[in-house]
Amino acid sequence: MNKSLEELLQDLAIANRILVNEGVLDGFGHISVRHPEQADRFFIARSMAPSLVTVDDLLQVDLEGVVHDERGRRTYVERFIHSAIYAARPDVQSVVHSHSPSIIPFGVTGARLRPICHMSGFLGAVTPVYEIRHSAGESSDLLINSQALGRSLAQVLGSASVALMRGHGSVTVGHSIEHAVFRAIYTEKSANLQMQAMRLGEVTFLTEGEAQATSAMNDAHLQRPWDSWKRHALKNWD
Ligand code: MN
Repeated sequence: MNKSLEELLQDLAIANRILVNEGVLDGFGHISVRHPEQADRFFIARSMAPSLVTVDDLLQVDLEGVVHDERGRRTYVERFIHSAIYAARPDVQSVVHSHSPSIIPFGVTGARLRPICHMSGFLGAVTPVYEIRHSAGESSDLLINSQALGRSLAQVLGSASVALMRGHGSVTVGHSIEHAVFRAIYTEKSANLQMQAMRLGEVTFLTEGEAQATSAMNDAHLQRPWDSWKRHALKNWD
């Protein structure tokens, strides 16, 4: 079932609130969706708190990170995360960038984020970690504030679902808004569970085959959690 553009933009606005409700976004972070009729454009909110985003706050950006907005509004400095990933990954339709807390420890230690349960099989065997020092030197503010840095992040992401950004956060991609939201929420949950499990003892992670099989299974049921998250977000809409 294809959504109308209006429905898609409504879902993008709602996704901002869902990600806040689920502890992925706070005052910072963003989600975008590729333009369904113009693959070299994507929609993202203007520079603002995710919990307040409505359809009227969405604007268009191209795959070089240039904003195209008749009203001259500005969007996030880190829009280049989105522009460079859409340029590198034709399969990606939605991108989430967050600073969700449980993921941070895995970006700054030798501990690798791995699929610990059937809800996080999409993490695959290895979750890549982006080290911005390799591109921006020793004194950067850690932000992806240019297309060149976005490209270096996209390169580390490769064909993965998630990349961690050392000392900063993560980026999660999907084939739809629902897919990217699901993955962003369960990346945070899985990181939290992994930290708890590591305190107890040696962890048995999913095998690569289990990761693939569980990921495929979950991809067929994205609508169920989405409906619940959406209902909750709409109930608290002010
Ligand atoms: Mn950031």
